[in-house]
Amino acid sequence: MSTIPPQRMNELYPWQHTIWQQVRGTVALKTHALLLKGRKGIGKLDFARNLAKSLLCERVTAEQAACGMCASCKWFEQGTHPNFNLMTPEVFAESSGEAASESSCTDKQDADTVKTRKKPSQHITIEQVRALNDFVYLSGHQDGFKVVLIHPAEAMNIPAANALLKKLEEPPSRILFMLVAHRSQDLLPTIRSRCQQITMPVPDAASVRNWLTQQEVKQPDICMALAGSSPLQAVAFSHDDYFAQYTDFIRQISQPASFDPISLTNKLYKLDVPDIVSWLQKWCYDLMSFSTTGKIRYHPHQEMAIKKLVATADPKLLASFWRNLITTQQLSRHPLNARLFLEEMLLSYIRVIAPERYKG
Ligand SMILES: [Zn+2]
Repeated sequence: MSTIPPQRMNELYPWQHTIWQQVRGTVALKTHALLLKGRKGIGKLDFARNLAKSLLCERVTAEQAACGMCASCKWFEQGTHPNFNLMTPEVFAESSGEAASESSCTDKQDADTVKTRKKPSQHITIEQVRALNDFVYLSGHQDGFKVVLIHPAEAMNIPAANALLKKLEEPPSRILFMLVAHRSQDLLPTIRSRCQQITMPVPDAASVRNWLTQQEVKQPDICMALAGSSPLQAVAFSHDDYFAQYTDFIRQISQPASFDPISLTNKLYKLDVPDIVSWLQKWCYDLMSFSTTGKIRYHPHQEMAIKKLVATADPKLLASFWRNLITTQQLSRHPLNARLFLEEMLLSYIRVIAPERYKG
């Protein structure tokens, strides 16, 4: 039985209707393992939850959506369905539902809570997979169909992945494993090959803009530029706090003369560190891109500042700093000390962008 607290559940997104017909109509009924893959922020988890709910529903609609009325749907909405199991890293399960969603918006309160307790695991562990045994092998509610949802599947560590593989190799009947992955290439190839793989659709720019407008996002164009074609990321950007922190970050790093890495770090270190690295990556991408092709992808509204920085920065140093940010991004998932980590990153940035401050 799932012990995850109930979460706000979204309807299908407009860009998912076609894939819904294919997957709910036939694919999900003919397989014991599905892999829903695609970039972050396009609604894969919501799709998977809708699919699970509909497969468990006692009276699906003509479109094969869950009815929302039957006992099964009620249990599902309360997070107590005996035939549904959501497997997710402890770090997601412990915080509010928001952190388990695909958006990367981090709540300050969550960050504080996490800090004062034993650090919850970022991985799906072998203990979690072993704990599935009863769920998988014992008969469930009225011998009904069961669903295991694993999100994000790439968070399984190697022992967990191997333990799951055994279950996928000899699947019990009337059970569907649903794996959701942002980086499916990080999964064991043997796991991938046991799954029916579904590439989840990425909406085009016009659909994203329409949808963001319907969600009453205030500055859809800026949020879209920042989030690319990941509408849920765009919504995360639009949240007031997040947007304010982000714009403050950009304002500071675009003014090298007055920029103080240490005071900026003091404001930032409680936020999600990978998010901040990704802000800097996008910013440096634009610096690189502007200096070579004159094009700006993520910050079109900052052209003046970008032009000014590119004029004084050393292009070779900038290129190598930008390349190194890929490694920084990987390390940022588990920094030993978030404050030191950010301070070092920002100091390196200022050395590249305003070398004159460090001369003599
Ligand atoms: Zn129902």
